[in-house]
Amino acid sequence: MSYVIGLDVGGTTIKGGIFTTTAQPLAEIRFRTYDKNNVRDEILASMSSVIHRLEEQADRLGLGRMEGVGIGVPGFVSSSEGVVYKAANLALINVKLRQWFEERFNVPCVVQGDARTGALGEFEFGAGKGAESLLYVVIGTGVGSGMILNGEIYEGVHALAGEIGHTIIHPDGQLCACGKRGCLETLVSGPAIVREYRNRTESQSETVPEIITKRAEAGEQAALDVYKNVAKTLGIALANYCTIVDPSRIVIGGGVSLAGSVLFNPLREFFRAYASPGAAKSIDIRPASLGDRSGLVGASLLVKKSWQMAGRH
Ligand SMILES: [Zn+2]
Repeated sequence: MSYVIGLDVGGTTIKGGIFTTTAQPLAEIRFRTYDKNNVRDEILASMSSVIHRLEEQADRLGLGRMEGVGIGVPGFVSSSEGVVYKAANLALINVKLRQWFEERFNVPCVVQGDARTGALGEFEFGAGKGAESLLYVVIGTGVGSGMILNGEIYEGVHALAGEIGHTIIHPDGQLCACGKRGCLETLVSGPAIVREYRNRTESQSETVPEIITKRAEAGEQAALDVYKNVAKTLGIALANYCTIVDPSRIVIGGGVSLAGSVLFNPLREFFRAYASPGAAKSIDIRPASLGDRSGLVGASLLVKKSWQMAGRH
C-alpha cells in the first residue's frame, strides 16, 4: 500500500506521520529539535530527518511507495507558489519549500499555512465533517484561521486569507506582535487570557489558561469573568465574519478551545446575540475533535487534495 507523509511544523516541534486513507497515522514522530535561534538550513535538515525516519518506519511496516509529502507551516504561506514567505517564530523567509523538498525526495510536495491545514483536517475527519463550508479558528499562543469553501482551502488572491487574529477590535488597545493595536489575538489568545486574569486578580504569580479554566469550572468569579469577556470578543469577531462570509459551521481548535463549556457556553450565547438572525439560527460552533493532530492530519490530506485538483482521483 502506498502512503503519504504529513508534517506539522511548529515553533519548537515537528510532528510527522505516515498516512494511508484515514485520519489515524500508522506511525507518528514528534521531533523537538530547534528554536527560533536556529537558521534556515538547520530547520530544513530537521524536517528532512523526520521524513527519512518516517520512510524507514514505512519500510519496516511493509508499506509501498511514498506518494507525496504535505507540510503545514505557521505563518504567511502561498500553497500555489509553494513558498513560505514568512514563518511565525521560525527563520524561514522567502523559502521555496515545495521545490526544496521535491528536489530532495523526488515526490510531489504541497505546503500550506498550518491554520489552513488544521481546517482541512477538521473538515475531512474532525468536527467539520459533513459541513458544506467551514471556518476553523485555532486559538493558542496566537490566533489563526482557515476557511474551507466548496471542499477546498480558500487562501485568497494574495494568499492572505484567514488572518482573523489580526482583525482589529480596539484600535487603541494592546500592541500586537503584528505591529498594530487591539487585534483579536491580543484579546483572546492564551497569553491574553493569562494577562487579563492577572489584572483582575491583581496577582503576580505565574499561571496558565488550564489553571484559569479549572478555577472557572469551580465557580471562581474572576476566572468566569475572564472567559465571559473572551467569549464576548470572540463572539463579536465570529458574528462579523459570518455576516460577511456565511459558512455552514465554525470549529474552534488550539489550546484555548480545551477550556470547554466555560468558553463555549457564553461564546454560543454572544454569537447568537451578535450574529444576524439567520446566521444565529443556522451556524453552529463546535470544538475541534482531532486534538493537537488537526494540522498533521490536514497536512497529509494536502497531497490527496492536490491530486483531486489535478484530476487524479
Ligand atoms: Zn495583530
